[in-house]
Amino acid sequence: MPKTQSDVLSASTLVKVAEEFGTPVYIYHAEKIKTQYNKLKQAFSKSDTRFFYACKALTNINILRYMNSIGCGLDTVSIREVELGLRAGFDPKNIIFTPNCVDLSEIIAAKELGVNLNIDNISILEQFGNKFGGSYPICIRLNPHIMAGGNFKISTGHVDSKFGISIHQIRHIERIVKSTKLKVTGLHMHTGSEIKDVDVFLRGVEIMFEMTEHFPDLESIDLGSGFKVAYQPGDPETDIDLLGEKLTEAFNNFAKKYKRPLQLWFEPGKYLVSQAGYFVVKANVIKQTTATVFVGVNSGFNHLIRPMFYDSFHLIKNISNPSGTERIYTVVGNICETDTFGWDRKITEVREGDLLVFYNAGAYGFEMSSNFNSRLKPAEVLVKDGKAHLIRKRDTIDDLLKNQVEIPF
Ligand SMILES: *Cc1c(COP(=O)(O)O)cnc(C)c1O
Repeated sequence: MPKTQSDVLSASTLVKVAEEFGTPVYIYHAEKIKTQYNKLKQAFSKSDTRFFYACKALTNINILRYMNSIGCGLDTVSIREVELGLRAGFDPKNIIFTPNCVDLSEIIAAKELGVNLNIDNISILEQFGNKFGGSYPICIRLNPHIMAGGNFKISTGHVDSKFGISIHQIRHIERIVKSTKLKVTGLHMHTGSEIKDVDVFLRGVEIMFEMTEHFPDLESIDLGSGFKVAYQPGDPETDIDLLGEKLTEAFNNFAKKYKRPLQLWFEPGKYLVSQAGYFVVKANVIKQTTATVFVGVNSGFNHLIRPMFYDSFHLIKNISNPSGTERIYTVVGNICETDTFGWDRKITEVREGDLLVFYNAGAYGFEMSSNFNSRLKPAEVLVKDGKAHLIRKRDTIDDLLKNQVEIPF
């Protein structure tokens, strides 16, 4: 494979990797992850800022280990993600646990592992306070009621959202904190995904600043994530440099007034891994109907659910015939129900057997895959320093049967 310093994998590189490991295959690019991490660090270099990778986007243990190696922390939403993070070598202090609707036992399990706890409802806050008082510091997830984000399914700050404790319940929080002597060292918000507007974050942080007056022991303010990345050329993105400049200014001004040193935290998921991922599939059949020309590929929404679930757009290219004549295709999967990756896409002429790539497949791609239709999950490959490493074997039929228990008839 050609050695490349670039943070983009070329069509010819993707073809080579796909030929070596077969299709369908998720291919990730370590250098691109690092580029994204460095962009964030650079944008916030003038304030005391830390980043925790929201690993629900992609949890392959090698991705977690790589994040740890470049100095990024980890944001987790289940006790298993916490355990994966520890197995990947993260110091528990560099792990945040931000679950939703878990019971107290899961919070206690995370506490015993020594990670940062983020509590997102009054009931657990009260139970935790009664049991542990101020012996273990916590962070509180607030809902600032900012409506933002690309899609209702991924917005979390609106009034109907199940996430966080409403800022209007601040008196109730105060009562619990005071009477149980809870030690609150962090405030958190996360208003959703795909927020391109810098002002949304600025409004959020202003609300968080107002809330700090109720909490004298704060050490960090966590603004979650939601940074938007481009899914095709010309797509709007969150302007990270502008965000860094404006938030740093607001944050540093505020931090001077607060009685203790404060850190600014973020939990980027998509921003770190989306563009670092490529999903390569094979065109099985070209099917001309009365209405359109379908390309049926050897994958489906069981491998990449975002288009069907979120109506998301993934750019699709034919990497076996990159200079062919462009034609209009509808790209569909092989699952036995409507399974469309993209309608009316302009793609260079597709022949049966050609390899197609879906871009931006790093975040919420493999991670949301399933074995629906008894199809096997794809392999995962990590390209680093110009070398391709298999980091997950393709499923086999034994994986489908692994946990099934046959009973006598
Ligand atoms: C999902 C999630 C994130 C990451 O969101 P992205 O849009 O992928 O950056 C961050 N924090 C929390 C609490 C989350 O649930």
